[in-house]
Amino acid sequence: MAEPEVELSECIRCGVCAEVCPEVFVITDAGYVRVISLHDYPEDCVDEAVKHCPADCIRWTSIDYKAGGL
Ligand code: SF4
Repeated sequence: MAEPEVELSECIRCGVCAEVCPEVFVITDAGYVRVISLHDYPEDCVDEAVKHCPADCIRWTSIDYKAGGL
């Protein structure tokens, strides 16, 4: 299992991810990107967002890895 993660310190808040993959990425009222919590993420859609992100700050992370407490 993997989920997308946005490195907010690198994000330039261009909104491209929310345009390309609105079922996963939303721009909050404060202008930050938020990843919607889903059980299964649409891989193609997230990969498109990864590809188009100008700051290269969207990554897949392993949920299992995080749960392991590392
Ligand atoms: S596409 Fe990348 S830089 Fe643009 S808002 Fe989304 S995460 Fe931030």
